[in-house]
Amino acid sequence: AVPLVVAINTTMAARNGMLIRDRIAMEEARKLDTVVFDKTGTLTKGEQGVVEVTTADGWDEDETLALMAAVESDSEHMIAEAIREEARERNLSVPEAREFEALEGRGVRATVEVESVATAGVDEETVRDGETVYVGGPNLLRHLEIEPDATLEAFADEAGERGQGVVYLLRDGAAVGAVALADVIREESFDAIDALHEMDVEVAMLTGDSEDVAGAVSEELGIDTYFAEVLPEDKDKKIIELQEQDKLVSMVGDGVNDAPALTRSDVGIAIGSGTDVAVESADIVLVENDPRDVAHLVRLSRKSYRKMQ
Ligand code: ADP
Ligand code: MG
Repeated sequence: AVPLVVAINTTMAARNGMLIRDRIAMEEARKLDTVVFDKTGTLTKGEQGVVEVTTADGWDEDETLALMAAVESDSEHMIAEAIREEARERNLSVPEAREFEALEGRGVRATVEVESVATAGVDEETVRDGETVYVGGPNLLRHLEIEPDATLEAFADEAGERGQGVVYLLRDGAAVGAVALADVIREESFDAIDALHEMDVEVAMLTGDSEDVAGAVSEELGIDTYFAEVLPEDKDKKIIELQEQDKLVSMVGDGVNDAPALTRSDVGIAIGSGTDVAVESADIVLVENDPRDVAHLVRLSRKSYRKMQ
């Protein structure tokens, strides 16, 4: 028979958007010292967003973005989606383009319809009929042997220090503008971390991403410690290291590469929209994909099990 308090508890949890796959973990949650979050797809949406635009002399931001969105209109890359979304948010009308070509691992190119350029608010002088325009990252610049000017180079350096990627607009063998892209942090992540701190739970972040990106995201969120550039097969080792310091550790993740860490941790928590492997490796599933539910879980566990101690 299931003890009454546990039964009540799992019902409460379900009502709060949590699926309890292991009741012991639900009980352990009240004693957690550290919650380790995966970054991409867990604290962030797994999308990119345009955070800044810069242009060469004589170009304006909207013109640059409209042309970039035109060249990206056929691409399914996360970067293309971010650029199109920014053009949409700015209410830009995007010129028509044709002859799209993906340059694998570098960028995209297309021919912009010059007749639609003027109506889109782009200066007619800027694009010739039948001209091929490129959008791509630093790899594409290197491939085409294009050197960005000093302004664009400084822009890229600053973005890099903030852990952001840069994508350029290229025409006539020159870079004429660029956008900086960053991970989009889930709005709920801020509250989730504050709430855990209020309950004296330490928060860590674990990611395969670069030191720069990890540092920027963790600073923005107020995370206590982070582990960057962790290979998928090493994620569970970080959990073990924390456990060896006598900590009771929860891992929160969504990806296939989080599965071993979810299994290893004392309270494995999967994001509901995560991969099947992550969900199956977890003790608790956040059905609403809301990181704040990690704090709710700790609170609920503390409330429910206090009486039993
Ligand atoms: P990843 O999945 O790591 O982004 P990709 O091979 O898809 O790797 O792309 C590598 C790089 O090439 C990107 O970081 C970007 O600089 C550039 N790139 C690829 N596709 C596009 C695109 N559609 N628009 C702009 N840049 C792109
Ligand atoms: Mg992930």
